[in-house]
Amino acid sequence: MQDCLFCKMVSGHIKPDIVYENSQVLAFHDINPQAPVHVLIVPKQHITTLNDLDGSHTALVGEMLLAAQEVAQQTGIADSGYRAVVNCNADAGQSVWHIHLHVLGGRRMGWPPG
Ligand code: AMP
Ligand code: ZN
Repeated sequence: MQDCLFCKMVSGHIKPDIVYENSQVLAFHDINPQAPVHVLIVPKQHITTLNDLDGSHTALVGEMLLAAQEVAQQTGIADSGYRAVVNCNADAGQSVWHIHLHVLGGRRMGWPPG
């Protein structure tokens, strides 16, 4: 996807602050962090929203969650706690149209989310 910001990061045309990478996912610091740790995990394959996942993505979704666990360990929030969130479409506030998992931690969070 030529006009997709996160595809440009995957291809290296834009260089994010990378935290973790493997053959299927890329994790980097959010440019506008909402917590002391705020990392985004994106699949290297372009998928627009959570609604676009299907059975062919089952392993990839698992990779995204395992990457969240890895990022939490690397950034020191695994034991204190963290939140892993996917925003889907307008009501959730999705603003980048390439699916991503937010990993937030390093502070106490409220529930329900705003
Ligand atoms: P969402 O609102 O769930 O679509 O999340 C998109 C996230 O991407 C927001 O938290 C933004 O701060 C973040 N973001 C936007 N542009 C960049 C960028 N160039 N580098 C890192 N994160 C970004
Ligand atoms: Zn993309």
